Amino acid sequence: MHLICSHNYTLVALSVLIAMFTSFAALDLAGRVTAAGGWIRAVWLLGGAGAMGTGIWSMHYIGMLACILPLPVAYHWPTVLLSLFAAILASIIALYVVSQQKMSAFRACSGSILMGGGIASMHYIGMAAMRMSAITHYDSFLVVLSVVLAVLISLAALWITFHLRDEKVATGWRKIAGAVVMGAAIPIMHYTGMAAAHFTPSGMPTDPSHAISISTLGTAGIVAATLIVLGLALLTSWVDRRFAAQTLELQEEKLHQSEAYLSEAQRLSHTGSFGWRVSTGEIMWSEETYRIFQFERTTTPTVKLVLQRVHPEDAAQVQRTIEHASQNGKDFEHEYRLVMPDGSVKHVHVVARAKSGEPCELEFVGAVMDVTERRRAEMLLGGEKRLLEMIARGESRTLILDALCRLFEELASGALSSILLSDPKASRLRHGAAPSLPEGYAEAIDGLVIGPCAGSCGTAAYRAEPVLVSDIATDPLWADYRALALAHGLQACWSTPILSPAGRVLGTFAIYYREPRSPTPQDHNLIDQITHLASIAVERDLAEEALRQAQADLAHVSRVTTMGELTASIAHEVNQPLTAVVNNANACISLLDSAPTRPGEGGPSGTPNLEEVREALAEIIEDANRAGAVTMRVRQLAKKAPGERSLLDLRDIVKDVLILARYESIARCVSIHTDLPEDLPSVSGDRVQLQQVLLNLIVNGMDAMNTVEESKRVLIICGRREIRDGKSEALLGVQDAGTGFKPQEMDRLFEAFYTTKPQGMGMGLAISRSIIEAHRGRLWAESNEGCGATFGFCLPAAPTPVHD
Ligand code: ADP
Repeated sequence: MHLICSHNYTLVALSVLIAMFTSFAALDLAGRVTAAGGWIRAVWLLGGAGAMGTGIWSMHYIGMLACILPLPVAYHWPTVLLSLFAAILASIIALYVVSQQKMSAFRACSGSILMGGGIASMHYIGMAAMRMSAITHYDSFLVVLSVVLAVLISLAALWITFHLRDEKVATGWRKIAGAVVMGAAIPIMHYTGMAAAHFTPSGMPTDPSHAISISTLGTAGIVAATLIVLGLALLTSWVDRRFAAQTLELQEEKLHQSEAYLSEAQRLSHTGSFGWRVSTGEIMWSEETYRIFQFERTTTPTVKLVLQRVHPEDAAQVQRTIEHASQNGKDFEHEYRLVMPDGSVKHVHVVARAKSGEPCELEFVGAVMDVTERRRAEMLLGGEKRLLEMIARGESRTLILDALCRLFEELASGALSSILLSDPKASRLRHGAAPSLPEGYAEAIDGLVIGPCAGSCGTAAYRAEPVLVSDIATDPLWADYRALALAHGLQACWSTPILSPAGRVLGTFAIYYREPRSPTPQDHNLIDQITHLASIAVERDLAEEALRQAQADLAHVSRVTTMGELTASIAHEVNQPLTAVVNNANACISLLDSAPTRPGEGGPSGTPNLEEVREALAEIIEDANRAGAVTMRVRQLAKKAPGERSLLDLRDIVKDVLILARYESIARCVSIHTDLPEDLPSVSGDRVQLQQVLLNLIVNGMDAMNTVEESKRVLIICGRREIRDGKSEALLGVQDAGTGFKPQEMDRLFEAFYTTKPQGMGMGLAISRSIIEAHRGRLWAESNEGCGATFGFCLPAAPTPVHD
């Protein structure tokens, strides 16, 4: 006879509720175990398993207590304790399985078998703890079914827990639903197990050792203790989750911040980053990398996409490098050019490191640096050097300007450039260089007018400021030239004036594009640099022209003042009559001498031929007069009309003469120094004549140092000297360290034809004196204290002009 087991439905309901509560706690605890690491994870695993095991165990005991048998039932507490351990063990297994990174089928199956086995063990150990005067029989089918159910329910519980463990909120609906399903399923197993048991009275007394009977209070105690344990577990979990969430928030905030810094740093340094998983072909780009390659952030980067941007000339090399890297998994570094959608060219430098890992999971991380500016600067520097070398070699202006245009075109691909040069007299721009512009167009703009509405170049030259026309088709400045430009396919033109340091427009540098386009800040930079180089080249050319002129002037002036044309011609003119004078005088002497030595040979009376002597004397007088007339002319030459004189600053004269004397001083290894005070009075005179005098004094000083070995030095001194009646004079002297002169020579130095040099003409100082005296001044000379002499002149100071 079987004992009929009546059910206390309150306890049944309580057991189901405890099952659900336990399931909820299990889901929550699984999340904590997963989130934790190290020893904290172990604490969570064991603590959680303790709480969960208690819950499961409690559910089963309440379920067992719900079954009321018509005889007293006591429980063998050591066995009860064992069943609790079985529940805790099953919970440890459950929490361990669900807190793993991945849940494979094997792991799920073995986990559910172990867990289900644990729960079943707990159940049947618990049954075995019953002490009553009855024998328990089991329906083997139902026992097997209950074990299978335990395993299947465990599998479902593991699956649900694994997938819901990461629920961020403590009480999400999915979690509650999961707990309800699991909580409902667990009692199914229990009551199946209970149904497998049949009790038949034995009439045998029960073994009272270690057996306790559970009163209603005891039941309440179990329920309360379970709820407290589970409640505490949940509370701890909640607090931990809050802390974890806060920490996570903080970490996320920090991460965001550091990401923002990184992104900004990448933007500033023009360096993007990338990751490349070779096996999948997956490429990750940072924001800056997208910016460098100019792709939308939504685009998925691929090797093919990268190759699309690569300059055709570099494509093969890039492809080779990528293939090589993907095969041998070695770090790589390469530099190549990109062609942007607008046709501009970028230079990028890529560095990639292979991440050590499985060979089949080869991955590279790297950086892409936009080095366009650096490359441009290098190219510009190289170009600048080449150009300066060309200038130094004296290459023609056309070649230099041509090279400049080519340099720009190399740096700004797609651009066509031209240089036009100002012709200020005609107010037009003339062809300078245009190596790539269509020939017809370049010819047509040669002679372009400089005006307020003359395309980009004519207007830029007129305004002396850049004129940047982004679209020739619509710009009013191009009204007269539009058809011409468009016919040659030119759509944009930015023209910048080439200015001299003084601000004079020397020409224009223009950039053309075949599509409408505005300059970027980089373009502005480049244009500025090239225009600056152009101004150096053009200025240099103009300066060379001026120098050539100055050299010609120098040659002329030195010829005139020292041993040049004037002196030579004067000497020649004077020498001729003087030679005649000397010859005739000699003839006279020989005529006079011949009479007494050989009487009778002379005239008929034996006296000298007076007629011949007279004739010779007449010629002497005539020739002497001719020589006198020449020297007179020299004096006249030196005296110019007062109207041609102007107010002069002696310092300016000195500066001009220094330039003229430079070549001579270098050739003779003489250094020229000056001591020029600020408050020199102005003088009135002829600038060129005074320059001639000074130059003559300097050259004489250098001549005087011809035999000196060391310290060949000329010092030009200036000063003001007060003379009577409040008047003052300006004084200028040339001090040398040469041979000097003897005191007895002093009076004759300024006389015409006085010279101590074998090739000397003796005209320089005489002419200088004439010039200075014509300026109402005085030429002077004095011996220096140590060695050498000082030759100079004084000129009356011009009255200071009175200002209003
Ligand atoms: P030249 O230089 O052709 O001889 P100048 O009339 O210029 O003719 O000079 C005349 C002479 O004056 C020179 O031959 C020289 O003897 C003398 N003389 C001129 N300058 C100096 C000087 N700085 N030091 C010494 N003697 C000088």
